[in-house]
Amino acid sequence: MPDRPVVLTRKDGHSLWVNSLALTRAGVGRETPDPPGGVIDRDEGGEPTGILREGPAMRLVWQAVGRPGVDLTGSALAEALPEAHRLGLTGIHEIDGREAFQAYQRLRGAGRLTLRVRLFLNPAHELLEPATRLGIMSGFGDEWLKISGVKLFADGSLGSLTALMLEPYEGTADNLGVAVTPPDELRRRVEEAFRSGLTVAIHAIGDRANRICLDLLESTRELWASRGLRPRIEHVQLLHPADLPRLARIGVVASMQPIHCTQDLFLAERYWGARSRYGYAWRSLVDHGTVLAFGSDCPVETPDPLRGLFAAVTRRREDGYPPEGWYPEERLGIEAAVRAYTWGAAFAVGEEDRWGTLRPGNYADLVLLSGDIFRTRPEELLGIRVLATVVGGRLVHADPAFAP
Ligand SMILES: [Zn+2]
Repeated sequence: MPDRPVVLTRKDGHSLWVNSLALTRAGVGRETPDPPGGVIDRDEGGEPTGILREGPAMRLVWQAVGRPGVDLTGSALAEALPEAHRLGLTGIHEIDGREAFQAYQRLRGAGRLTLRVRLFLNPAHELLEPATRLGIMSGFGDEWLKISGVKLFADGSLGSLTALMLEPYEGTADNLGVAVTPPDELRRRVEEAFRSGLTVAIHAIGDRANRICLDLLESTRELWASRGLRPRIEHVQLLHPADLPRLARIGVVASMQPIHCTQDLFLAERYWGARSRYGYAWRSLVDHGTVLAFGSDCPVETPDPLRGLFAAVTRRREDGYPPEGWYPEERLGIEAAVRAYTWGAAFAVGEEDRWGTLRPGNYADLVLLSGDIFRTRPEELLGIRVLATVVGGRLVHADPAFAP
């Protein structure tokens, strides 16, 4: 028997892989039934394998072993900051809870927070009610660390066939996916957040989930617009063509992650079929006047923005497939893609007046690249390196090849 419990989280946060001591401490054995909504994987003999799926099963272990505390979270963050700067990141939109918020505050207090953090409260931590009770509004904080809003979930994911669909997945008779938050409950939480001055980022992958969000944000427009809030739909992966113009018309930001398109295209073809034409429909959305805010969904995908830019302008996987791009009519030009990663991301958190563009009076957050991304051929984007990263006028990363 090992002498310490080991708990590893899958990158999407939907399952755990744990060792036998962690199972023992959690009291999980062959007699333990699957908790409602969760699965304990078992071998042929019925013995738990150490893989636990979805929240209710994962909680069995977290309750027994304890989540990483603020100290461990803080030291992990301190190690991650140089890595973020190495990739050219100067700020992030972060979805997390108590331990991370405390760890960021400690780093901030020690003058070591060199990345601008805009926090969206994670629904798994049940922070909406405490935040509204305390009267926290979007924008509370300082230039380094701010609470920008709350994240909510309308549906699941394409890979697990839990994205919520208007019509069944290809090859299934009646699978429409899952409303992770029932629409009535979603409306209640969204209205509670808006009334309190907090904006929302609602996760929506499937075309039905996106329609639910659009209907909800259209009917609550007075609530959020009168408070100057900027709600966003997170991912916007599949839209019904009739919904394409609605984001711009209502004033909803599309927060999208280009690398999802190239990572998911085989799944999309298999399960969405011809509907994929309006999957990851960046160009159509821009043409309708939608504000795009690009990101990575790290740790689900790499946080490297150059790899994201490559996906945005080519819609090709890094192995070159498909050569002409997947639904190439939805590719973006490099200017529009860079704008979504910079100005669009700043706009989404209401800070485009001093962040996301380089001009007098704005934050001196910038990168020096080894090549001109506005002129290089798209296939050469992946070879471009970040030579230096500057945040608030301070050099936070310098490549050995670059001597300032
Ligand atoms: Zn999400």
